[in-house]
Amino acid sequence: IYTLAIESSCDDTSAAVFKNNKKLSNIIASQAVHEKYGGVVPELASRAHQQNIVPVVDQALSQAKVDRKDLSAIAYTKGPGLLGSLLVGSSFAKSLAMALDIPLIEVHHMQAHILAHFIDDENQKIPQFPFLALTISGGHTQIVKVNDFFDMQVIGETLDDAVGEAFDKCGKMMGLGYPAGPIIDKLAKQGNPERFTFSKPKVSGLDFSFSGLKTAVLYFLQKEKKANPNFVDENIKDICASFQKTVVDILMDKMKIAVKDTGITQIAIGGGVSANSGIRTALKQAEIGLGWQSYVPKFEYCLDNAAMIAIVGYYKFLQQEFADFGSTSKARLKL
Ligand code: ATP
Ligand code: FE
Repeated sequence: IYTLAIESSCDDTSAAVFKNNKKLSNIIASQAVHEKYGGVVPELASRAHQQNIVPVVDQALSQAKVDRKDLSAIAYTKGPGLLGSLLVGSSFAKSLAMALDIPLIEVHHMQAHILAHFIDDENQKIPQFPFLALTISGGHTQIVKVNDFFDMQVIGETLDDAVGEAFDKCGKMMGLGYPAGPIIDKLAKQGNPERFTFSKPKVSGLDFSFSGLKTAVLYFLQKEKKANPNFVDENIKDICASFQKTVVDILMDKMKIAVKDTGITQIAIGGGVSANSGIRTALKQAEIGLGWQSYVPKFEYCLDNAAMIAIVGYYKFLQQEFADFGSTSKARLKL
């Protein structure tokens, strides 16, 4: 089964070609236009997708050495995401599927972040059902009990901001570029995580909250800058390390509760923030300290990419779960 997958939910245009569950290509075109605005501008994102989609798909096919006539199905991201961005991918996917007279498959973006673990790649360990997925990205923070490929249950989620959003917004306050997550991660590696403390939210159960942390960082920076205008510049590494440690502690504390509640000790992470070195290290330590088995996706499959859409497409193809051509993109879509 040859699947062509298209992902265009936010600001990366991506296309991948799979042979069954194996990646033949995974091309990602990032959009630099948003950097100067300090966040994604939806209108500009749709236009850039429109420019990128044909060359990105062509490159994915040529790198995979697959002729479009040999494709078995086209998979695309139905949602959630920015509507104008999603529509570029869905229109393209529909047109191509129609022209080639092959099935169309719609994919849930967050399901794809989770099932990215099933991409057959020698550098990846594959979890067994049931497992717990911690999806941490720019728009989501969820703990999902994954019983089977398409049987998932959200057992905890953020009540306000997503964890990636917290990284990006707090980074902006510190004067860092966009997206700030990877920049904070890099600076944190050279800083002292014990230097500053930020209070953790008091949310019971498995839900998260990150807006309080954002406010805490804001007040902290304001107070320190009043005493020393160069405070941020002089202490940026320690601020980043302390902030990152707080976030990782919040995530790990909730996972400990989830493990206790469900009795499941297999933990898989997904989404852009799973690229973070702090959470990766904490999970590795939990293998020894807590007896968990952790699954961390290959870097390439953490951020938005079409390979994760292709793997879901493949499993849906096996179940003959095809979309009709009247299906529409959805900015908001429940798991
Ligand atoms: P969603 O998947 O919820 O729809 P999204 O697709 O915009 O949102 P992703 O592309 O999966 O989100 O992830 C982007 C987020 O990941 C950004 O907030 C970015 O700052 C964050 N991020 C990326 N790398 C790192 C890192 N090393 N450390 C922390 N955060 C990171
Ligand atoms: Fe994403």
